[in-house]
Amino acid sequence: MDKKVLLISIDGMRPDGLQQCGNPYVAELERTCAYTYAGSSMNPSVTFPCHFSMTHSVTPQRHGILTNTYVPQVRPVKGIFEKVSDVGGVSAMFYGWEPLRDIALPGALKLATYVNAYMQESGDTVLTDECETVLSTHKPDFAFLYMVETDEKGGHDNGWMSEAYLKRISIAIDNVKRMIDRFGDEYRVIIMADHGGHDRAHGTEMPEDMTIPFFFYGPEFTPGEIIDRKLSLLDIAPTIAKLLGIPCEHEWEGESLI
Ligand SMILES: [Zn+2]
Repeated sequence: MDKKVLLISIDGMRPDGLQQCGNPYVAELERTCAYTYAGSSMNPSVTFPCHFSMTHSVTPQRHGILTNTYVPQVRPVKGIFEKVSDVGGVSAMFYGWEPLRDIALPGALKLATYVNAYMQESGDTVLTDECETVLSTHKPDFAFLYMVETDEKGGHDNGWMSEAYLKRISIAIDNVKRMIDRFGDEYRVIIMADHGGHDRAHGTEMPEDMTIPFFFYGPEFTPGEIIDRKLSLLDIAPTIAKLLGIPCEHEWEGESLI
């Protein structure tokens, strides 16, 4: 594959959280990416079902995973990891929440690093260190960096839009900056969330839970463009497939942005 993609998911990051986190790099992302602050999560707005929809382009009602407990699909749909593997490509995942390992079928991921977020002050940053090392040494075709601490240590522990929550977003954005500075010429980069949150929870159909930001960095996207199309999690796997130049799965329900 001649093109490469890095997908960065910041768990529980609300659009207004990103806008108010105080990190000056957010303005730089608005200048250099095509983006929207009005993207859609899935119902239920819960981490595992949402990430499964993000990578498999079908709704939770279709893939059948409705909680954070993985169950094998009854009528299996291939996800982006399997599609990359089918054409001989290399996928890598870096994740701070252990259950996420089931997002790819055994064998589809060639490289994977799990960092227990609770074992260190900033697991997201340790994970980004790992991602940086593996991308520079192994150059995977598709890399997925999943940062959990905005959701866990920010929203659930302290409340959505609390100072601690906004601080976690800012740290995550520092990590995004590091990856774009280092790999922005080589990788197309997508930055997004899975769902939002309210009070100290999420999972409902409230706009605070359902509205998420999407940012797209790379030559296929117009810098500074505010995307007016309604984007949802379902559109991510088709967009990645198009960027990589590999086929979509025929059952995928989303549509590529490009
Ligand atoms: Zn959560």
